[in-house]
Amino acid sequence: MTQKNDETKRSRKQSNEKTKNQSSRNSGKAKSNQPKKKETKKEAAYGRINPPETKKSQRKSEKTAKPETKKRQYSKSGKNSKDKKKASVPVRIIPLGGLEEIGKNITLYECGDDMILVDCGMAFPDDDLPGIDLVIPDFTYVIKNKDKIRGLFITHGHEDHIGSIPYLLKEFDLPVYGTRLTLGLVEGKLKEHGIKGDLRVCSPTDRVKAGCFDVEFIHVNHSIPDSVGFAIRCPGGLFVHTGDFKIDTTPIDGDVIDLARFGELGAEGVTMLLTDSTNAEREGFTPSERTVGNSFENLFSQAQNKRIIVATFSSNIHRIQQIIDEAVRCSRKVAVSGRSMINVVSVASELGYLNVPEGVLIDIDSIRKYPPENIVIITTGSQGEPMSALHRMAFSDHRKVDVGPGDLIIISATPIPGNEKTVSRVVNELMKLGAEVIYERMYYVHVSGHACAEEIKLIHTLTKPKYYMPLHGEYKHLVKNAKIAESLGTDKKNIVIAQIGNVVEVTENNVKIVNTVPAGRMLVDGYGVGDVGNIVLKDRKHLAEDGLIAVVMTIDGVLGDILAGPDIVTRGFVYVREAEELIIDAKRVVCNVLDSYQGRDWSTIKQKVRDDLSRYLYERTKRSPMILPIIMEI
Ligand SMILES: [Zn+2]
Ligand SMILES: [Zn+2]
Repeated sequence: MTQKNDETKRSRKQSNEKTKNQSSRNSGKAKSNQPKKKETKKEAAYGRINPPETKKSQRKSEKTAKPETKKRQYSKSGKNSKDKKKASVPVRIIPLGGLEEIGKNITLYECGDDMILVDCGMAFPDDDLPGIDLVIPDFTYVIKNKDKIRGLFITHGHEDHIGSIPYLLKEFDLPVYGTRLTLGLVEGKLKEHGIKGDLRVCSPTDRVKAGCFDVEFIHVNHSIPDSVGFAIRCPGGLFVHTGDFKIDTTPIDGDVIDLARFGELGAEGVTMLLTDSTNAEREGFTPSERTVGNSFENLFSQAQNKRIIVATFSSNIHRIQQIIDEAVRCSRKVAVSGRSMINVVSVASELGYLNVPEGVLIDIDSIRKYPPENIVIITTGSQGEPMSALHRMAFSDHRKVDVGPGDLIIISATPIPGNEKTVSRVVNELMKLGAEVIYERMYYVHVSGHACAEEIKLIHTLTKPKYYMPLHGEYKHLVKNAKIAESLGTDKKNIVIAQIGNVVEVTENNVKIVNTVPAGRMLVDGYGVGDVGNIVLKDRKHLAEDGLIAVVMTIDGVLGDILAGPDIVTRGFVYVREAEELIIDAKRVVCNVLDSYQGRDWSTIKQKVRDDLSRYLYERTKRSPMILPIIMEI
């Protein structure tokens, strides 16, 4: 009870503080009307950072205030004379997902008795996880520390950053902070799971207090609008967590990444920069989203009397906007296909992130009422996903759309590593139906949402971090990202390439991995979370690769005689009718086991049946099916 009360109090306090921050932002008169007593007391105990309210007002009223004097307190390395007197408070950063993989991003920050979580994503299962629907992080350590966790901060609305939120909130409740679109998408996800959730909408430049942490939202560009990075201040330093980002100087919504703020943070003194490694191995800059619009313009102009079908990521709202704009220009109506596409288009239009002129959007059922040259269909399935709308169109399994020679199909995405085969299967099938398919890089129908090497360099140069930690990538990406920091002069010993579960301790003088905590993956299959473990997976793989043989017999419990059977049933091993001889011999092997063993220990008999039959079948077929002896005792 007491604990619950404490939590309620805490969350109420946090929400008060947040409103305070927001109001300070709006009024611009923060300094005078802040009841600062409580915060200053806490800050003073650690003595590292200034009260956030003051900081914020500084930024907002730069013309009137004298920020220079404040700023000069910080040297480039983030240390100043004031800091040196204070004992350093260690900060522990614990990535619980998102390293050595692209997916299920989740990072825990710990300072004193407080923790915050950044992102809570999921991953899609790969080929070695038969039957698994999705993969979520192992929450053991998070649940163990739930009383310390002051909030979950979300960088953006991609599945690899929000997908596991419902599974975490089912374990315990905590405030979730994010921008409007991000939380709009989270809300829909929670609804599906029947959870309400304490969602708190923030905007770029907002600062949220969460225990001893102060989290500032910074606008970044990415392949979904409303993406942010965080400046995380705590008594142990200033941590810049970029989230997924790119630098787009001509973004569709005109909202360029807040590079100036990254520069200001650099001047303030950044302890550690944690950044997106996805495209670290690519040289140069990621092109602007706008270049895709130019390609659409050319392709749409040349399509003449063809129907156009564009497949892209449902979350790429700016891409969808560009398709709609182009459709409007060419007097085409737009229909949407695929569950997630319909969902995102509706959320984004409702929240004002998508601008669709009246009468442009039509129901997929009414596309037949219009000539093909007046139609654009936006669909899911750009990764060739088997259940997606484009996949169904390709295999003539879509109830509303029949693909044929009158279609121009644009796949506005590149396959995520691992999806190449499924994508090319879809392309082949669409072409067999006579459609023209544009998927090649040379048409520039897709740009990445992640920073290439030069963009990473720019953020590094602006923030001038003392320590550096690559996030979000496979091992090779992390290494490339680390090399970028090294090339810019960051000391190798100040760069950490961590694994999930590592406890990365950052102090004034060094950074090192001090411990590990439980981390890994939990598999979700249907309603089951975590009930499919290694043994079940091993069985599934075994069954998939070699099939099953069941040996069924009825035995007299007293005399040990076989009363019925042995019968042999196989699945996925051989077709019994075409292998009669093999099955007769297999039965003989089973009978021999029973003849030679006179005991009544059924488990020994089962084991012997398994061993002898397995040896025999392997000799005859070089296959090792799963053998399942079933003995009924009468
Ligand atoms: Zn993303
Ligand atoms: Zn991501």
